[in-house]
Amino acid sequence: MILDRARTPRAKTEPGAPPSRLPTCLRCGLESTRPEATFCRRCGLTYGAPPPELADLPACPICYTEAEPDGRFPSRALPGLRVGLPEHRREHERFPVGDDEWLESLREGDRIRVGRWYAPFEQVRRYLVTGAVEGGHLRRLQHDAVTLAMSQIKRWGTSAEIMGDQPDWRDARAAIAALMERYHRGLLPGR
Ligand SMILES: [Zn+2]
Ligand SMILES: [Zn+2]
Repeated sequence: MILDRARTPRAKTEPGAPPSRLPTCLRCGLESTRPEATFCRRCGLTYGAPPPELADLPACPICYTEAEPDGRFPSRALPGLRVGLPEHRREHERFPVGDDEWLESLREGDRIRVGRWYAPFEQVRRYLVTGAVEGGHLRRLQHDAVTLAMSQIKRWGTSAEIMGDQPDWRDARAAIAALMERYHRGLLPGR
């Protein structure tokens, strides 16, 4: 990390820019706006200090990965380097998880249009990125074609023969599968 301080600061958004020299909190992931700051204004932890053992670790809102116990993420741009959350997020400009510009274009408020249904945007995006379905209770799931479709695909794949299958379910699975295919199209494997 000492090396980074010697570098000239560059625009935050510049792809391939070296890691930021601004201090980053390893507990909550906040980046200071002042290079000389010594502690995090949000949670009070000293910059550079490891997060307390039982603290919640910062998680990336783009790939949903949680920081490792030292509060950092392995850098994808510079293998071997460990970076804080803000730097990890900036790395997604070079290593996107999917076509978010396109996905955002389908967004309506906090919902997304999937086939002839609407579903919570965050839930669908998380599914596309991680494969995890936060469906909640089965009762709700049965009334929610998109969530049900996502859990069916997760369990049985897109071409599954499902006992008691219904046309609605099939349509919703096809809509989700199409979304998934388009979101990941053109991206290199890995994220
Ligand atoms: Zn903090
Ligand atoms: Zn991430």
